[in-house]
Amino acid sequence: MFTMNYQYRVYPSKNQEVRMISWLEMCRGVYNYALRERKDWIKSRKCDINCCSLESEYIIPADATYPGYYQQQNALTAIKNSLPHLKDVQSQVIQEPIRRVETAFVAMKQRGHGFPRFKKFGQYRSFLFPQFKTSPIKGNKIKLPKIGEIPIVLHRPIPDGFAVKTVRVTRKHSGWYITLCLQIDVNIPDVMPHGNAIGIDVGLSYFLSTSEGEQVARPRFFDKLQRQLKLLQRCLKRKQKRSNARAKLIQKIGRIHEQIAASRLDWQFKLAHHLCDQSKMIFVEDLDFRIMAKGMLGKHTLDAGLGQFINQVLPWVCFKRGVYYGKVDPSGTSQTCPDCGTRVKKDLSVRIHKCPECGCVKPRDVASGQVIKARGLSGVETASGWELSGCQGTGARQDRVKDEILKSDLGKPTLYCS
Ligand SMILES: [Zn+2]
Repeated sequence: MFTMNYQYRVYPSKNQEVRMISWLEMCRGVYNYALRERKDWIKSRKCDINCCSLESEYIIPADATYPGYYQQQNALTAIKNSLPHLKDVQSQVIQEPIRRVETAFVAMKQRGHGFPRFKKFGQYRSFLFPQFKTSPIKGNKIKLPKIGEIPIVLHRPIPDGFAVKTVRVTRKHSGWYITLCLQIDVNIPDVMPHGNAIGIDVGLSYFLSTSEGEQVARPRFFDKLQRQLKLLQRCLKRKQKRSNARAKLIQKIGRIHEQIAASRLDWQFKLAHHLCDQSKMIFVEDLDFRIMAKGMLGKHTLDAGLGQFINQVLPWVCFKRGVYYGKVDPSGTSQTCPDCGTRVKKDLSVRIHKCPECGCVKPRDVASGQVIKARGLSGVETASGWELSGCQGTGARQDRVKDEILKSDLGKPTLYCS
């Protein structure tokens, strides 16, 4: 089973748009209600006996069960009779917000995400049709239940053999989009380690450096857009709250954000293809970019979208191109000499690697790129040999990364594949 997401632009009519916005608002209501119910229950259970505040802690009977996923779904079906406006939304669409709350709580418990927050007006941007018996696309139109036919721009054809599994409708500042989750019933074998390898080190002074000595500077081409953004955001402060002019300006700012994100993604795809052109195996460090962003490197790593490139774009392009993608242990990659293996201590300000043992001199990032390559290669060889299938360590991690990309369709940038 293989799935992937394709995104297309749609142009709904005025009536359809009004209806879709009202659906988003109702979904937001259900989301916030479900979250409130859980939050109240949790609060009522951890009230201390000596400092119970009468305003913020709710008294919920001790035998009341936790409002879990199934309980909330059942409550929603029951409440629909007394709130008939909820019946306007397609029945499966109105159930999805509760699943989203559940996902958010699971992510909090298992992956250390923050406590889910309430969504303000405009923060709930998409709804999902989770099931289709036949393909909803006929010609240049897509037929959605209860909304009707909407003109769609099929800028890229839907590949043969793929069935539409789900449809997500998203409202962006630049207009409406749909994301099709396409599924095909085949098994695609994992890429086996083969051919020449390169190691990639990411850093701040350069976007990335390869073990072959190539250093890619961080993209500067959207500086112009960033300046424009700054200017508009300054204007926003002077605008009156709830005024028409303010709403228009917010939309303009939103569009620029989208433009920046799109051009960054485009640049990253071209870079990933460029890297795949020169090798059959690519090794990167197994870094947690969320921690990096909090630490000494500050916000700059997030600006450049390093995590997006290393964890989403690069593995996807490698997968498409049949290039092996592996992650290696990041500890001390910049402190080791690639030629003789001695530890050469240096702090962040030292940009040149000089080895006192063997005397090699090279840029710091290139040196750590070579260490990463050597580590990756030894990992692949010791794990299983070259011919055997299913190498452990890097292989298992690669599977996990791939699974995450392919299964996720919430809160992550859509991957465009060609
Ligand atoms: Zn050395």
